[in-house]
Amino acid sequence: MSTAIVVTSGKGGTGKTSVTGGLASCLAGLGHRVLCIDMDIGLRNLDLSLGMSDRALMDFTDVVEGRCSLSRAVVEHPTVRDLFLLTAPLTPRPIGEFAMRELIREAKQNYDFILMDSPAGLGSGFRLALCAADRAIVVSTTDPSALRDAQRTVTEIRSALPGRIHLVMNRVQPKLMKKLHTTIDDAMNTAGLPLLGVIPEDPAVTLAAGKGTPLILFTRKGAAIACLNTAKRLMGQSVPVMRIR
Ligand code: ADP
Ligand code: MG
Repeated sequence: MSTAIVVTSGKGGTGKTSVTGGLASCLAGLGHRVLCIDMDIGLRNLDLSLGMSDRALMDFTDVVEGRCSLSRAVVEHPTVRDLFLLTAPLTPRPIGEFAMRELIREAKQNYDFILMDSPAGLGSGFRLALCAADRAIVVSTTDPSALRDAQRTVTEIRSALPGRIHLVMNRVQPKLMKKLHTTIDDAMNTAGLPLLGVIPEDPAVTLAAGKGTPLILFTRKGAAIACLNTAKRLMGQSVPVMRIR
């Protein structure tokens, strides 16, 4: 069965795009057909994180407005089999929720996982992704303001996706957490969510994106392995949470 997942956070810069790209390439590597949709209208950058910079000519509005088919607008990753991208338009356009749901319904016939990278905030791009989602991943850092925004996001989406919202803690630095006198448990309590993954602060995330290489092909340690474990949990496997030193 196919699952559409919105990756969101409230606050910008928590790592939504990096986590979407990281999870997508791992899920594809684990044998699934994965479609990533960039919902960050005007500020798209999921192509960079996936190493598919400027490959897409058509975007999701071309599909919902009938200018081209879904299969024509979707581009395949040059090296990772079964990884696909549908990009966002560069200029804002009014898109109806019905049309978005139809697009996702069609995509579900062809892909096992559909990951929607939503923009920061609770605006139209976020709502569009949410309306078509079966599950949500809220990405937060341990920063108190990121956690507060995560909590607000959860309040907004809880009724739409009851019991289907999970937390990914990103950019985790144990030394900083000690100074903040906080733990992952505190973060889960603040966000009010069960944990799907813990991803360490790791320069490889930015270096891989800079090189246009999916994180899991760039390195096999740190954030890359944390993404792999998180992808396995998304598939329903039980994998212990990584100890971050
Ligand atoms: P968002 O989509 O939430 O705005 P991005 O994924 O674009 O956030 O990430 C913002 C910045 O943080 C990028 O430069 C990215 O490379 C960096 N980043 C994200 N996750 C990590 C991580 N785990 N370790 C180090 N840098 C990270
Ligand atoms: Mg982003």
